[in-house]
Parts: sequence; C-alpha cells; structure tokens
Amino acid sequence: MSKSFERLKNALKKLPGLGAKSAERIALHMALEDPEHAREIAHAITSAIESTSPCPSCYGLSENGELCQICANLARDASAVCVVEKASDIEAIEKSGAWRGRYHVLGGKLSPLRRIGPDNLNLAPLKKRIESGEISEIMLALSNDIEGEATCHYIREHIISSRKLRLTRIGFGLPSGSQLGFADSVTIKSALDSRKDFGFQHEKHQPYI
Ligand SMILES: [Zn+2]
Repeated sequence: MSKSFERLKNALKKLPGLGAKSAERIALHMALEDPEHAREIAHAITSAIESTSPCPSCYGLSENGELCQICANLARDASAVCVVEKASDIEAIEKSGAWRGRYHVLGGKLSPLRRIGPDNLNLAPLKKRIESGEISEIMLALSNDIEGEATCHYIREHIISSRKLRLTRIGFGLPSGSQLGFADSVTIKSALDSRKDFGFQHEKHQPYI
C-alpha cells in the first residue's frame, strides 16, 4: 500500500461515524475506482471551508459572514429562539418542520471534565440577543444528559435576565442521554410539541426580578 493511500485512509478514519473499514473502502473508491468523483469532492471541501462561516446572529451555518437563510427569512418568528448545541441540530429540527422561530447555536455544552466553561460557548451573544428585547420565548433543545442539564440550568440562572420571557425545554420525549441529531423527525416534533416551562417557578432566584 502506498504512503499517500495510507495518509488518505487515516485522514478519513478521523471523520465522525466512520470506522476503519469504511475509511478503507472510501479511500479505495477515491484513489482507484473513481478519481474524478474524488476530485469533485476535494473541490467541494475546499470551497466549503473557504466560504462557510458562522452566522453573525445565531452562529448557525452561513456563508461569507452573512446572515444565514433562517435569520434572513422575515417569515420566521424572530420572537422565538431555539437554543441548540450544534449547527447540525438545526438541520434535524428543520427536517421535522415543527419550529417556525429562529435558533441560537451554543457550540457545545458545559463540561468541567472536558474543560468547557461558559466562556467557551456562545452564551454572551445569547444574552445580548435576549437583552435586545425582541425575544419572548427561549426554547432549550439541548441533549438529555448531565451536561445538557447543567447547561440548561446555567442559562436559566445566568443568561435569562427577564421574568417576562417564556423559558421552555424539550427532551422529555427523548430517551435519556440521547442527542437531537440521532432522533427521527417524528420524535423531534413530539419533543418540541410537548416542551415544558423551565423556569422562574423558584422564588429564591432574585436576580430575575
Ligand atoms: Zn442565523
């Protein structure tokens, strides 16, 4: 086996969800069976890397520093924002067709073990969006695990500054520990439809007043 083939195989193996066997099969397809298709993929990757950028408002996928298609769409409800971990979660929710509001991508979730603190997530821009005053509902669509739970609580305690805002959370229909990206459209739709109020019932939280 050639060195460059090994290099391609090892690079592919690092892709999420791809095992050693699949990486080898794809590498063979690219290098031997259909190099023209491989060139097309290489070109698509290069141009995607060069033009893709986070949306300046929601941090979802956009191009050349412009607003993404959802933020630029005036038909979408700007007063309702769904908070997700990753840009790919937007894709999953959009496929379900259950959300007509906008989004905010955190870029992960709080995790002391992986040293991900509030400053590593897009929490300050979320706070800024909320303070702009045009949002009336924040729907938390984070994973149903300990880190997702901690992140939801942090947002309620430190990011939401107004009691007038409706704070809701989905995930009650999703299996424990599950992630949005792995759920099917029907499950996501029912999780969104059955979202529950998440906050402000504890009077001890004085900062919200
Ligand atoms: Zn956007």
